[in-house]
Amino acid sequence: MRMILLGPPGAGKGTLAGLLKDKLGLLHISTGDILREEMKKGTPLGKDMKAYVDRGELVPDSIITKIIEGRISEIKPGQGYMLDGFPRTETQAKNLDKILAKLKQPIDFALCMESSLPVVLERLTGRRVCRGCGALYHMTNKPPKAAGKCDACGGEIYQRADDNEKTIRNRMDVYTKNTQPIIDYYKKQKKLMKVNGDQETDFLFQELTLVLNENKRAHKDKVGR
Ligand code: AMP
Repeated sequence: MRMILLGPPGAGKGTLAGLLKDKLGLLHISTGDILREEMKKGTPLGKDMKAYVDRGELVPDSIITKIIEGRISEIKPGQGYMLDGFPRTETQAKNLDKILAKLKQPIDFALCMESSLPVVLERLTGRRVCRGCGALYHMTNKPPKAAGKCDACGGEIYQRADDNEKTIRNRMDVYTKNTQPIIDYYKKQKKLMKVNGDQETDFLFQELTLVLNENKRAHKDKVGR
């Protein structure tokens, strides 16, 4: 299964991806994680992209497309994956279609997780991440057992530089302007599925399972199998 996770920052794409990775064995490819890794290592790419990421602005389409093309080319044929944070513009969506058409491995569907600004603000201002393994925490809803230390690997827990209210509001504006239109792009391709990202992860996962099963049934009806 090859899928795209769409939705505003804080809709729970990363959390859901963690679950799907375990339950369905899908690879999780997050362009935000790739950029943060480059920034952490201090590579030329990381240095060039830092200003965009810190302000919550989109990095140029050509650069992010090259990154994702490289990453997809490393995936073994038949291995399912989830793209998280890509595509974010219509140009990126079209570039992705071209890359996947060459490989004869089109995307199966785009899952859109809708979420409202108050929920996004509450989730992201409280979000903390492990520097070591990337595990996600929330200062109110899911704090680590020992302050500042990851439960899973003992790594240092930090707050992303772009998880502050001013930048979150900017990221939401950027999402509405650039990423909302690609929801229509996948709707026209009949690949769009929607779930409510405001709900707790367990409920979200249940809703997703229902939506996936319905989709499988509809597909069977359509092709008569
Ligand atoms: P995320 O972790 O998905 O919230 O991404 C963090 C930041 O990385 C975004 O605010 C952008 O600055 C940058 N970024 C990630 N993915 C993309 C993309 N597909 N296109 C442009 N910029 C991106």
